[in-house]
Amino acid sequence: MIATQIKLSSPDELSIKWDDGHASIISLRKLRDNCPCAGCQGETVLLKTYKPDQQQYLPGRYMLTNIQQIGHYAIQISWGDGHSTGIYTWEILRNL
Ligand SMILES: [Zn+2]
Repeated sequence: MIATQIKLSSPDELSIKWDDGHASIISLRKLRDNCPCAGCQGETVLLKTYKPDQQQYLPGRYMLTNIQQIGHYAIQISWGDGHSTGIYTWEILRNL
């Protein structure tokens, strides 16, 4: 399954079209709150999960500034507060 088109459908929603004809609408807030990077989700090391400290909510947290495609399997999203380490695979996006 591959995303064939990704665009902002409104100032706070991302719309994704899939190669199977399905279309998804994901709010930027949900996207950011589910950022898959280790800094947001914590890291599991030797079966222990280290959750990050409560994050500061900086201005621009839910503002999408850039989307970059990573190969054929994912996109990397940059946010208005400077955060850009989250790699969203098609699978993650589809599950949101
Ligand atoms: Zn993150």
